[in-house]
Amino acid sequence: MSIRRPLVAGNWKLNGSRTGNGPLVAAILDGLPASADVEVVLCPPFVYLPDVVDATRASSVLVGAQDVATETAGAFTGEVSAPMLRDVGCAYVIIGHSERRAFFGDTDEQVARKVAAALAAGLKAVVCVGETRAEREAGQTLAVVNRQLAAVLGVIPPEDLRQSLIAYEPVWAIGTGLTATPAEAQEVHAEIRATLARRDATMAGAMRLLYGGSVKASNAKDLFAMQDIDGGLIGGASLQAAEFLGICMAAAGQ
Ligand code: PEP
Repeated sequence: MSIRRPLVAGNWKLNGSRTGNGPLVAAILDGLPASADVEVVLCPPFVYLPDVVDATRASSVLVGAQDVATETAGAFTGEVSAPMLRDVGCAYVIIGHSERRAFFGDTDEQVARKVAAALAAGLKAVVCVGETRAEREAGQTLAVVNRQLAAVLGVIPPEDLRQSLIAYEPVWAIGTGLTATPAEAQEVHAEIRATLARRDATMAGAMRLLYGGSVKASNAKDLFAMQDIDGGLIGGASLQAAEFLGICMAAAGQ
């Protein structure tokens, strides 16, 4: 069990609608006991952020975006900046999700610039790292994760990063129904924490490391029992209130 306050974030990806979001958020708020010791973050698509901020305002649930521009303003058609996300009430932003890296060409360098932009605007970043199946089979998991981390650690001072999170999401486990075993996930989480510690021990001790990749209510408890797994980044299961609540309760140790 982790010594840090657990956090569960729901990444809705490209899903949601005005008619569906209200009932989903209401069911999550209804089912989450005020006493549950878990920080819960919902990450809907950009256009629904203000609605979800409004719906969660009276609760402890926080809201995050799924991406952010490297730039803060100007001639960048289609982009959404970190100050804009703050302006509409976001607390968090997911950066470097493997779908952004694979389908939209986000590079390690852009991920680092996005993290810098997010932190400068007062957002907390959820920085995603993780290897593909081919990279795992080639024994490159730790090298890939360390390369992705190094890009961020190279430009962001440790004291600025402390409030942010790293999400380890093996690409082969995202949306596939395949989950890293608790031991496989813990091995990578321990390496991530060791890498952070080589930079700054205080930061390494404070930062929460999330696991993501086909987490469900049924496998969450065993994953969250690992000492360096401080919660989860949840895709598919975050669209079903009962599943998501089950994961939140597992993180809260209930
Ligand atoms: C994700 O999108 O970050 C994710 C982990 O997805 P899933 O839970 O569906 O595997």
